[in-house]
Amino acid sequence: MISSLTSAITRLWRRVRHRLSLPARLPWLLLPVAASALVLWSAVATPAQAYQVQVSPSSPKLGDTLSVVVRGERSDEAPTVSMGDTSYPTFLLSGDRYRALIPTSPNTTPGRMTLQVSGTEGTNNIAVNIGDRSFPTQYITLSPGRAGLEGTDYEFGRLDDLRALRTPERYWDGPMTKPSNGYVSSLYGLRRYYNGVFAGDYYHRGVDYAAGNGSPIYAPAAGQIALVGRVADGFVLNGNTLGIDHGQGVTSVMIHLSGFAVNEGDFVQAGQLIGYMGSTGFATGPNLHWGLFVNGIAVDPVPWRYDGVE
Ligand SMILES: [Zn+2]
Repeated sequence: MISSLTSAITRLWRRVRHRLSLPARLPWLLLPVAASALVLWSAVATPAQAYQVQVSPSSPKLGDTLSVVVRGERSDEAPTVSMGDTSYPTFLLSGDRYRALIPTSPNTTPGRMTLQVSGTEGTNNIAVNIGDRSFPTQYITLSPGRAGLEGTDYEFGRLDDLRALRTPERYWDGPMTKPSNGYVSSLYGLRRYYNGVFAGDYYHRGVDYAAGNGSPIYAPAAGQIALVGRVADGFVLNGNTLGIDHGQGVTSVMIHLSGFAVNEGDFVQAGQLIGYMGSTGFATGPNLHWGLFVNGIAVDPVPWRYDGVE
């Protein structure tokens, strides 16, 4: 043990002495100093053998999407990325860079979380602090007739299928664009009380835009139309609905439409006309509800609109 430590120190000494113009032989009085320097050097050097991980935004808060970019020496095998009990799909960005998207929402417990990246190059445990955020609260009084309005298994099943998509291609590019020229009438994350009772799991899973009936609705980003749901086919709660697959687990849902300008399977570009605003389903007036989902969880579209997520 001592001899292997001594030879390691000697090798390290040989390596650094040329650069620093130091004497050929290590002055042995400095052995304790050199030994502790070696221990320190090993401690610093060890993490470099695992992955380089970059998490953005640097100070996330509830509703944000965490983008985890992982760089490794060997790009042939994707690392796994997990937080809490959930693991998230990783996709190759370019060269040796992989990326996973981790959604947060008002239902995420704020505080310190451990992000784990593991694979052939080792394991990184990274502490990430999810900042708390207060959301506005709405008090809704439901008349007995409206309280009973429920959706159908058909519409919930189709929406579940849309949110479960993990298409390997990435169709979006850069910040997303406004899906309507109307004004924002309801923000993401709003909490609700129904008839005085806090709806614990409820939060507004999108952003509402209000404009006239029949006003145009545009694709916020490129993608494939993966869902055209009609009231006549059972979309009674959401009304006429469009679902867009932006790829890599990112999907958009547009509800309460009066009509469609696309068909299922069509590929659309950002800003392309896809439908028309309406008040179908459970809506109090003409409005577009745009829900943006990341790996099945409704996230705040605002960071996607302004900063963009790679
Ligand atoms: Zn809404």
